Amino acid sequence: MDYYGKRMSKLIEQLSALPGIGNKSAQRLAFHLIHMPQERVKQLTDAITDARENVCYCKECCTLTDQEICPICSNPARDKKTIMVVETTRDLAAYEKTGKYEGVYHVLHGAISPMLGIGPGDIRLKELIKRLEGDVNEVIIATNSSLEGETTAMYISKLIKPTGIKVTRIASGVPVGGDLEYIDEMTLLRALEGRVEL
Ligand code: ZN
Repeated sequence: MDYYGKRMSKLIEQLSALPGIGNKSAQRLAFHLIHMPQERVKQLTDAITDARENVCYCKECCTLTDQEICPICSNPARDKKTIMVVETTRDLAAYEKTGKYEGVYHVLHGAISPMLGIGPGDIRLKELIKRLEGDVNEVIIATNSSLEGETTAMYISKLIKPTGIKVTRIASGVPVGGDLEYIDEMTLLRALEGRVEL
């Protein structure tokens, strides 16, 4: 039964396709949206369109940015010889919040997962290997401590080892399976300081 009319149902359907939004939340959001002033709705849809059109990957570290080179990579004060490998831009943000890390990052946009059919070619690994042709002292692997994160860490360390570049893994102070973005700053700092060479 189409209780709300075609247009409303379409909006609910679109919203419920978003991650973490069930049918009930989608209905609540849809009703909220149609009661919002037109101008506010336009600001929201413009922001979505603008972000989708203009946010891209940084040419160096692959993080999401609206510039060719992100502010971290273009900051001359950052140590370009230390690269921390993370799974997502949200993980990068978690480390940036600590304000204590002075190196640069590499964002993989995922992790290797044979279960889900995600292989090395599906994440931004090629870009990382290319960066290692430059002057790099250390690669810190800060992927999650989930099965996928550990698999990815192992894979990367095997790739890098023959180059002679130092490879380290953040300490296991990070709870198993815990997403980096939900971990407090102290835990992240301890994990970073306690990193071990692979
Ligand atoms: Zn960058």
